[in-house]
Amino acid sequence: MTVGRRYGRQQARRSGEPVETLLDDIRVVVTRKPIKNLYLRVKPPDGHLEISAPQRMADTTIRNFVRTRRSWIDEMRNRVQVAAAVGALGGDAPLPLAEKWTPERTRVAKRQMTAQLDALLPKWTAVVGKSPTSISLRAMKTRWGSCTPRTGRIRLNLELADIPEQFLEYVLVHELTHLHASGHGPQFQRLMSLYLPNWRQLRSELNKYVIF
Ligand SMILES: [Zn+2]
Repeated sequence: MTVGRRYGRQQARRSGEPVETLLDDIRVVVTRKPIKNLYLRVKPPDGHLEISAPQRMADTTIRNFVRTRRSWIDEMRNRVQVAAAVGALGGDAPLPLAEKWTPERTRVAKRQMTAQLDALLPKWTAVVGKSPTSISLRAMKTRWGSCTPRTGRIRLNLELADIPEQFLEYVLVHELTHLHASGHGPQFQRLMSLYLPNWRQLRSELNKYVIF
């Protein structure tokens, strides 16, 4: 691990000024802003990272965020660099973000999540007292999961395969709870607190992974 010296606490905490550093082998520009979540972008032409981070977020949280998403980041860096090179040659420079989920990667992620769900589902259907009619796993751009209470169908985002399992568990419990309550009102929140007392903490941690 290599963390640039300038990635110092004092400098990094100064709001508004971009602070450039090396995280492992990647050039990273961190800007502190009055925001709630961390945002990460892979920028052309070299595939460096631009991160907007909440003012109070610890440097270690940012480092861990980058490291837990490292395989995704490497893939995006590769694409950005290829696209930039193609553009430099006078061709189009498309960013094929939608192609992240290759058939192979989809297969691996589905196998992993299916194994995780084999363990999680019996436990949580017993706690919640409801079972889904089906669970489908697919890559989604804007949400971690969804549930149609009328049909009992639950969909979970394949991205959950890439982050700690506690978040798959949280999203599963969230969607199962929708089989009792369709919205996110008081009844939903009461049940979530009953099933998973630290759900609000998990939700806010999960929100830090929003990087699309
Ligand atoms: Zn919901």
